[in-house]
Amino acid sequence: MTFDLTSEQDQLRDAVRALGRRYGHGYFVEKAKAGEHTTELWAEAGRLGYLGVNIPTEYGGGGGGITELAIVCEELAAAGCPLLLLVVSPAIAATVIARHGTEDQRKRHLPGLADGSAKIVFAITEPEAGSNFHRLGTVARRDGDDWVLNGRKCYISGVDEAGHVLVVARTEDSSTGKLKPALFIVPTDAAGLTRSKLDMEIVSPENQFLLYLDDVRVPADTLVGESLDTGLPALFSGLNPERITVAAMGAGTGRYAIERASEYTATRKVWGGRSIGSHQGVSHPLAHAAVQVELARLMIQKAATLYDAGRDLEAGVAGNMAKYAAGEAAALAVDTAVQALGGAGMTTEYGVATLLGAVRAGRIAPVSREMILNFVAQHVLGQEKSY
Ligand SMILES: Cc1cc2nc3c(=O)[nH]c(=O)nc-3n(C[C@H](O)[C@H](O)[C@H](O)COP(=O)(O)OP(=O)(O)OC[C@H]3O[C@@H](n4cnc5c(N)ncnc54)[C@H](O)[C@@H]3O)c2cc1C
Repeated sequence: MTFDLTSEQDQLRDAVRALGRRYGHGYFVEKAKAGEHTTELWAEAGRLGYLGVNIPTEYGGGGGGITELAIVCEELAAAGCPLLLLVVSPAIAATVIARHGTEDQRKRHLPGLADGSAKIVFAITEPEAGSNFHRLGTVARRDGDDWVLNGRKCYISGVDEAGHVLVVARTEDSSTGKLKPALFIVPTDAAGLTRSKLDMEIVSPENQFLLYLDDVRVPADTLVGESLDTGLPALFSGLNPERITVAAMGAGTGRYAIERASEYTATRKVWGGRSIGSHQGVSHPLAHAAVQVELARLMIQKAATLYDAGRDLEAGVAGNMAKYAAGEAAALAVDTAVQALGGAGMTTEYGVATLLGAVRAGRIAPVSREMILNFVAQHVLGQEKSY
């Protein structure tokens, strides 16, 4: 057992940290409040190879794993730049295409994802189905050489920034009559695909959308993989990277908040000569949050290591636990930091309250804390499903 990163991973961590700090939380908030995207940061991270660390080298990536991508997510978040689209484009879409796409799809999409010039977002959630993807209502119907998609998706992040959206639909299995999932790489400008922006209470340069698919006609080669049998394994292959990288983003955000608060409480004096951090009522909650963040980081490391070793089932358990732990720890850390800063905690200038919406959402998305607890109860504790 080792808790050390390799020297390459250490270098990656230092380099991403330096990049994140050059932009910083002020840049992230400024972009969000102006309704703009973090285009410069994304482009630079892409040029430096950080967005493609987990993509195979033959398609322009770094040839690393989810461990490396988690480092990128955590360090950018620790610099105050938690980029949700890292979880969607390099983690989910690139993994699904690299593992299950056709050779043509790999060649067409992975180099752009690796250098950051292209983004593919991910659409699974639906207004009716919610957490229960077995009830997906977006239907794909074969029509000659094409597929025709109809349905509704909600809360889809980054559609306005992406060239394609990976749509999870369902088709009818001709042998069983049952419905089964199929994934399509749909151009965001496809005829019949429209969107409307949701107003979210999150300070974020990334937006969420309702997506309407009305007779969206796409050619057969947009179906991920060689056949419909690819759908289910392709969908599942995106889940572990999603949970691990979103957990890493949460851990980074927690570190950022605790660091901001610790700097403040170590120097702020309101009662004579002592810093407010000398009072345990201030320092213990911060120390407690630091413990929770560090525990989450340990589980993230375990999940990423298992995933990169090809131990997908074990990585599934660890990845869910890591996501749960990091989601809770990040929310605790940001809330504790706001409290420790007093009034300053609620200002934009001190840059912690600006993360309240994001960490709150991190307990709901991309998988809610309740659905993780359901997963653990069923798969680890052997409990019966209630639904
Ligand atoms: C900021 C943000 C970004 C997002 N980005 C994307 C994206 O890019 N792509 C995408 O596809 N989706 C995205 N989502 C959607 C997100 O994945 C869903 O919101 C999430 O999975 C929960 O689904 P729901 O909102 O339909 O909640 P519901 O399924 O309606 O659930 C509501 C509440 O009930 C609880 N609940 C439901 N069923 C059970 C049960 N059986 N047992 C216990 N509790 C239960 C849930 O945990 C939740 O707290 C995003 C959401 C947010 C907030």
